[in-house]
Amino acid sequence: MKARITFFIVMICTLQTFAQDMYLQCGEIFDSESGTFLTERTIVVSGNKIKSIEKGFVSGKDMDNIVDLQSKTVLPGFIDMHVHIEGESSPSQYLDRFTKNDVDVAFQSTVYAKRTLMAGFTTVRDLGGSGVNIALGKAISKGIVIGPRIFTAGKAIATTGGHADPTNGVRKELMHDPGPKEGVVNSPEDARKAVRQRYKNGADVIKITATGGVMSVAKNGQNPQFTAAELKAIVETAKDYGMLTAAHAHGDEGMRRAIVAGIQTIEHGTLMEESTMELMIQYNTYLVPTISAGKAAAAMADIPNFLPAVVAKKAKEIGPISEKNFKRAYEKGVPIAFGTDAGVSPHGDNGKEFTYMHEAGMPVVLALQSAMTAPAKLLGMDKELGILKAGYLADIVAVDENPVNNVRTLESVSFVMKEGKVYKE
Ligand SMILES: [Zn+2]
Repeated sequence: MKARITFFIVMICTLQTFAQDMYLQCGEIFDSESGTFLTERTIVVSGNKIKSIEKGFVSGKDMDNIVDLQSKTVLPGFIDMHVHIEGESSPSQYLDRFTKNDVDVAFQSTVYAKRTLMAGFTTVRDLGGSGVNIALGKAISKGIVIGPRIFTAGKAIATTGGHADPTNGVRKELMHDPGPKEGVVNSPEDARKAVRQRYKNGADVIKITATGGVMSVAKNGQNPQFTAAELKAIVETAKDYGMLTAAHAHGDEGMRRAIVAGIQTIEHGTLMEESTMELMIQYNTYLVPTISAGKAAAAMADIPNFLPAVVAKKAKEIGPISEKNFKRAYEKGVPIAFGTDAGVSPHGDNGKEFTYMHEAGMPVVLALQSAMTAPAKLLGMDKELGILKAGYLADIVAVDENPVNNVRTLESVSFVMKEGKVYKE
């Protein structure tokens, strides 16, 4: 008996002593804090964290793993602040809600999650689906499904007939009167209940549709859809429960109301006036530009019968101006956090947003930081994510070229590690 106990103690000590560290020998690494590139560094990864970053190419003991990234540029895993991981645009998307069960959605969402991670996005914020997104986030964090870390909104909150009313456009027997539980509110009391219900469901983020939107079967793509009192109730309750807040907004008035109510991010921000940009700077509200969605919506509108006529009309009007609006907001000094609205655009193409941001005039280094340090801070994860630094989670990606020389290299990452585990090499 004694001998057996001794054997186990020796085994445990041996395992601890020889726990393998990984040595990522990197041609250059991006320091997202300073916005500079450092040449010839070795990132030592132990368990799910970065243990240290050493100068030059170093290696450990015999048992340790060496990963040769000497010809690569290595960066912190990218963060996309606006995706819809459950689905993707298709000519059948408006029919899908009548034909697909949650399990169907769940299976397809695992494919999109994997694509997103393989594109170098190790963290995403899911801004609205049916609630499958909550289960998917849990399955990924348990290691059952491969995908990015997900901060999720569950089902978005709207008003009756608003952009995220799930019964828009359906025939009258199906058009019941959804309430706070389904994310439709019509008073400050409803608004509080809807937030608390999302907390109960396991959401991390409150997403509201502050104005009309492009992809819903409704006429107006930009009118304000919440009263100031409803917005105040939402933001206050979300704060009480420690939840983040995000507002979809195309029109200026709805945006203004959301900013003044204390919303943390404005999604799209398409028709933002100059004075609203100043308000965002004053309130430190971030713009999540989603240029990818604008381009994707405009392209879909040109394909006959892809979108319902009422949607195609809005997509043609609003889609093409998103890049121009981003340029104006960036030049004005509005804080920017990276986001694509993937789901409207294809999952896995998230990296194209870097190219669009750069084409609109943003230096590559700032676009990178908008997908690293800025979102980490918004997510309350700035001591764990967004920087290659000792003690941070080992979310690490590599690309073939320095992105400052060729921004498009970010569209095809060649190495992906999440929490110390290699998913793409
Ligand atoms: Zn969206």
